[in-house]
Amino acid sequence: MVTTAVRPLVTCASMGDLQPWGVRRFAVLGAGFAGVSVAWHLLQHTTSSAPVCVELFDELGVGGGASGASGGLLHPYNPKGKLLWKGAEGWNAALRLLSVAETAYSDASAADQFGPATVPLAWRRGILRLAKEQKHAIDFQKNVNIAASDESRIACLGGPAARELVPGLEIPAGGLALHIPQAINVHPQRYLKALWLACELFSRNASNSDCPGTQAVLRNHRVDSLRELKGNYEAVIVCLGAQAMLLPELLDKLPLTSCRGVVAQLQAPQGSRNVFCSKAPNLLFGTWLAVQGERDLLLGATKDWGSMNASPHVDNREASSALEKLIRESAPFYPSIKEWEVKGWQAGLRAIPPRSALGSLPLVGCIDELVRRSHSEVYSGQTSNIKQTTSTKWWLFGGLGSRGLIHHGWLGDLVAKAVVYRDESLLPQTLKQW
Ligand SMILES: Cc1cc2nc3c(=O)[nH]c(=O)nc-3n(C[C@H](O)[C@H](O)[C@H](O)COP(=O)(O)OP(=O)(O)OC[C@H]3O[C@@H](n4cnc5c(N)ncnc54)[C@H](O)[C@@H]3O)c2cc1C
Repeated sequence: MVTTAVRPLVTCASMGDLQPWGVRRFAVLGAGFAGVSVAWHLLQHTTSSAPVCVELFDELGVGGGASGASGGLLHPYNPKGKLLWKGAEGWNAALRLLSVAETAYSDASAADQFGPATVPLAWRRGILRLAKEQKHAIDFQKNVNIAASDESRIACLGGPAARELVPGLEIPAGGLALHIPQAINVHPQRYLKALWLACELFSRNASNSDCPGTQAVLRNHRVDSLRELKGNYEAVIVCLGAQAMLLPELLDKLPLTSCRGVVAQLQAPQGSRNVFCSKAPNLLFGTWLAVQGERDLLLGATKDWGSMNASPHVDNREASSALEKLIRESAPFYPSIKEWEVKGWQAGLRAIPPRSALGSLPLVGCIDELVRRSHSEVYSGQTSNIKQTTSTKWWLFGGLGSRGLIHHGWLGDLVAKAVVYRDESLLPQTLKQW
């Protein structure tokens, strides 16, 4: 992996002019699902006359934020079993990115970072969503009937069929479960690192063949203000998750609520026959079990609304209160979870967008107005001068909420197109929610 200490940024004379011979430099802030996806899609626009250079900034490295701490569950349905807004597009694009990451993961150079590729990047075991109340069961049935005409194979299962699928499952008499057989769970850290490796391999190949100058560079660097980057890039894309709210330019401007989540990494006790059946799907009932092998699973996640603690570190106090809550919520459905041992913890901060009639939609669009307004407040009286000396364009891709994976691929692609063509109309206008 190419990591470099931050160096003084060099102002390019042709910045902003789309001259055919000029390298197009883009800064992507944040190496989570949003940022790495945008980086990959920007690189796909490299050409021999206008090679693309992407600099990816993250103070914690790739997957250091909410993305790396997530359960990695990926499917296109809402809790009622209804297809999410743009769920089909999101699903197809996420599968394409997963395939890109899996190809890089199997590359010989991946062994330097990941060791022998004996552990998969993703598990294709499906999801079983359990109805906790009668009204959920009614919703499941209604939406399964609607989906019967499309290609999805979602199905409603009664107790006996659900128990056959997941040995050890408890489901009340008359209870129902929604089976989503095509659902996937990725190992989020490994997935993101492999996707970034794909960016590096792609840029190296392009640079060595017909697009010299193509580059993908990771900068382990904290960005405290967008002003630091002004003038040095053709465009800056802010993908900082919940911490985008802390940038001075965006402070109090975004309709986001933060929500910290803690996840327990559990392991079946040594010698125990109490393992998770190798073919059984992940479980979802508000709380979830994301299964990473017969003896390893993630149990998540807590919801601490309003917290701005983005640290991946979980202290003893937070761990014991999270464990008590997660076991209390999951044991009625999967009682043997009480015997599993805690191997570790992971945590991150979700950026929850407002609810709309279409669901909770991400925040995407050009933020030039917000940035210019903020900078002109600081340099009051010099506004016109600033406008003339910088042509950097500023973009936001955030608010991925609790379902970052379903949106990261297709929106990463659209954001990259909007950035490259400097055309905000390529983005769904309904996502500009500020
Ligand atoms: C506990 C938990 C479980 C989840 N489970 C799932 C799941 O199963 N499936 C699913 O689809 N979604 C899940 N989510 C939601 C998903 O993780 C988020 O939607 C997604 O991670 C958001 O991605 P992002 O790239 O916008 O933000 P992040 O992943 O938070 O990326 C932002 C990056 O920016 C960096 N950064 C922040 N500030 C700065 C700065 N000033 N300078 C430099 N770098 C900075 C951070 O280090 C971080 O790496 C879960 C979330 C949590 C918290």
